[in-house]
Amino acid sequence: MIWNEKMECATRDEMKAIQSERLVETVKRIYHNVAYYRDKMQQAGLTPFDIEGVEDLHKLPFTTKSDLRDNYPFGLFTVPMSEIVRLHASSGTTGKPTVVGYTRKDINMWSEVVTRSLCMAGVHKNDIVQIAYGYGLFTGGLGIHYGTENLGASVIPISGGNTQKQIQLMQDFNSSVLCCTPSYALYISDVLNEAGIDPETLNLRVGIFGAEPWSEAMRKEIERKLKLRAIDIYGLSEIVGPGVSCECEYQQGMHVHEDHFIPEIIDPVTLEPVADGEVGELVFSTITKEGIPLLRYRTRDLTRLIYDKCSCGRTLVRMEKCKGRSDDMLIIRGVNVFPSQIETVLLEMSETEPHYLLIVDRENTLDTLSLMVEVQEQFFSDEVRKLQDLRKQITHKLESTLGLTVDVKLVEPKTIERTAGKAKRVIDKRNI
Ligand SMILES: [Zn+2]
Repeated sequence: MIWNEKMECATRDEMKAIQSERLVETVKRIYHNVAYYRDKMQQAGLTPFDIEGVEDLHKLPFTTKSDLRDNYPFGLFTVPMSEIVRLHASSGTTGKPTVVGYTRKDINMWSEVVTRSLCMAGVHKNDIVQIAYGYGLFTGGLGIHYGTENLGASVIPISGGNTQKQIQLMQDFNSSVLCCTPSYALYISDVLNEAGIDPETLNLRVGIFGAEPWSEAMRKEIERKLKLRAIDIYGLSEIVGPGVSCECEYQQGMHVHEDHFIPEIIDPVTLEPVADGEVGELVFSTITKEGIPLLRYRTRDLTRLIYDKCSCGRTLVRMEKCKGRSDDMLIIRGVNVFPSQIETVLLEMSETEPHYLLIVDRENTLDTLSLMVEVQEQFFSDEVRKLQDLRKQITHKLESTLGLTVDVKLVEPKTIERTAGKAKRVIDKRNI
């Protein structure tokens, strides 16, 4: 089912006209209400009259996470606090958190894009939706919650963690949709396995997974282990939270709700737009938000845009699964390495578990990369030679994929710490 056919199936020209009108309004509102933006535009020699439509978007200055931090907490809001009905904030693990305020209209828009996303994933009002994303300042839980209620499906607002309880409710309430991070979905499957519960006996049909990058191989693994269709949903709190884009049943890229968020792809080094279809950093301009609209916000996520028509009938542009983050990209001995490349190699091997940790260090002046990866239980009971062979095989595969030698350490299952939220995959010990 397509929730909003008018917007989701608009022609390119119709979409461009909607975007242009909304962009012009947003630029005016920001310019007149936020001194910080006004100064930035003036420094770039711009007034709102210079922005007549989407074709002028590239003239506008970028916004980054540090702009949000410099204006902590409410400096970039374009409305008085009396109009803000909700606040969310990022975890702030690397400095001050970034704070986002929503007006009532913003909450309605967010619910609408999440509802559209759920429909893309094949969720309908008869579904029972178990929301195992964290509720709280993190946007995951409440974001999906409002969209699910708007659709009319039944919500189980269990939040993250408490895996035994998650499984009990799946069994007792017949949950048909599971929403959580992909790493938590895998963890749930481990616990099911240990408890001797066959996933076929559950009623799960669709999984809506996001909030961290995951590979195509990890999708297959989750689908096989949980017996559901795993759908990728994308979002970031600075833009709106989950529901910025989502896959449809064809799983060929995530449709961006571009009547609300205009995507661009830039080269993260030169900051120039890349050629059509090329991979680069994703940038969003919000064109309907009232609380804290952002222009050309650099997401740091690496992906590419697909404008070809999708088999589902929607014309909304699609973005490919994120290939990592421009600031997560590790530069090791001059080679660009994305943790997702390593994950893909590991998931192609049947002997390893998709739980790993990368440790980057520097010995004298040389960078080193080591990988801890869990091996399936039965390999540890096997002879040592088999483990050595496996280690060699992984080392060789990584070397041919990355062009780097990686020191591989095989560890027993459950050695690497599990989390109910985003998995920590990289420890960088270098002091640069
Ligand atoms: Zn589609």
